[in-house]
Amino acid sequence: MTSDIRVRFCPSPTGNPHVGMIRTALFNWAFARHTGGTFVFRIEDTDSARDSQESYQALLDSMRWLGLTWDEGPEVGGPFGPYRQSERSAIYQDVVGKLHDSGYTYPCFCTTEELNARREVARQEKRAPGYDGHCRNLSTAEQDKFRSEGREAVIRFRMPGTDFTWNDLIRGEVTFKAEHVPDFVLVRGNGEPLYTLVNPVDDALMRISHVLRGEDLLSSTPRQLALFDALRHIGVAHFTPEYGHLPYVMGEGNKKLSKRDPESSLAMYREIGYLPEALLNYLALLGWSMGNDVEFFSPTQMAEAFTLERVNPNPARFDLKKCTAINGDWIRFISPLLLTELLVPFLARAGLISEVPTEQESARLNQSVPLIQQRLDTLSSASELLAFLFTDSVAIDPSLWTDESQSVLARSIEVLEPLADWGTDAIHNALRFALVDDMGLKPKLAFGSVRAAITGQKISPPLFESMEILGKNTCLERLGRSVESLQA
Ligand code: GLU
Ligand code: ZN
Repeated sequence: MTSDIRVRFCPSPTGNPHVGMIRTALFNWAFARHTGGTFVFRIEDTDSARDSQESYQALLDSMRWLGLTWDEGPEVGGPFGPYRQSERSAIYQDVVGKLHDSGYTYPCFCTTEELNARREVARQEKRAPGYDGHCRNLSTAEQDKFRSEGREAVIRFRMPGTDFTWNDLIRGEVTFKAEHVPDFVLVRGNGEPLYTLVNPVDDALMRISHVLRGEDLLSSTPRQLALFDALRHIGVAHFTPEYGHLPYVMGEGNKKLSKRDPESSLAMYREIGYLPEALLNYLALLGWSMGNDVEFFSPTQMAEAFTLERVNPNPARFDLKKCTAINGDWIRFISPLLLTELLVPFLARAGLISEVPTEQESARLNQSVPLIQQRLDTLSSASELLAFLFTDSVAIDPSLWTDESQSVLARSIEVLEPLADWGTDAIHNALRFALVDDMGLKPKLAFGSVRAAITGQKISPPLFESMEILGKNTCLERLGRSVESLQA
């Protein structure tokens, strides 16, 4: 299925990719996939002071990791490229020239100080504090005079002075009064084009049909609608896109989730070991629902079901606990084989195995990963749980010992030593018989000491299975060493 629907994800490459931005990318991607449309990825790097190549690479890398494939954009190309705005200066200059020739723009010579002073007066007189149109109707002679004084001019767009109303795809009818949308700057004094210009110009030239973006950009929409009218008039745009504004994402304390909040950082999720599918699954729920209380789904399933009617305009709350729980669901959902593969870099980083596991390490991984699959909620938490299976000796926190530990361990050695069959059941039966039935101890108390000696931990993967994997010699050695240390 193909359609004329074209959406875009157009981040600025500043700083690190954050979850708010990924939520926007995901909704656009899902809308394109659902409708058989085209997902355009555009880089808005016109702010040379803030943009960086690193951030650009991080964006591409993040999108690839997440599996949000784009149909047109960097490294993929497409009929409306280039897709990095820093490579499109000539296009913008041309459009600015056409806008100027048709009278849609004018040079504004006001200095920041002058603007601030007049804004202050407006505030005191309870008028709207935006640009007051001071330079709108300067004569050529007046403009020349300013130029001869060495003043730099920004280029402003001449707003039509009417209210702007549009039918937002998510919020319904939205209106901005004319006095709240004053003439705005398109090009800086130094000739650098601004977001206000390049974003709608590229939406026009790239034939974007639907603009889906965060609610923080709501106030730029009336300006973009006005600019689109002009762009259509001068033949740069063929139509005006429809606009839909995705709900705010709230963080702690009912404040908007900020880029600087640690749970915003996409890199953090990768580092701690979230599955990309899980993160997207969670981000999908920030403003969208599949219906029927279904909260576990793949990106493909989301795309199949995605419609804008199910996007909720109310703010969504970011809940890291829920995100982590969904990650746990995903970890349990994938095959043990895939999970093992995903864990390798985490375990290698923790120093438990080599980056390319040896045959021995692989065998042990295949045995032990199924033991922890049910209780893992991030990939990085596996190393702590599995450490005792990949080390020669475990360090034991003395607070794990009880008054009974020494006799429990001594007795355990006695009954385990003669075991011919070193299987989970045989180990369990021998220990239960000796410690629970014979010594009359509560299982938790008895097995707690054995667990401490074998794993070094209070909480571990299933004990008897772990003992089977470790092998008889290693277990007896660890039990023996613990008895010695308790005797000392
Ligand atoms: N480059 C803009 C941003 O990152 C894009 C906004 C938009 O989607 O129009 O905020
Ligand atoms: Zn001015």
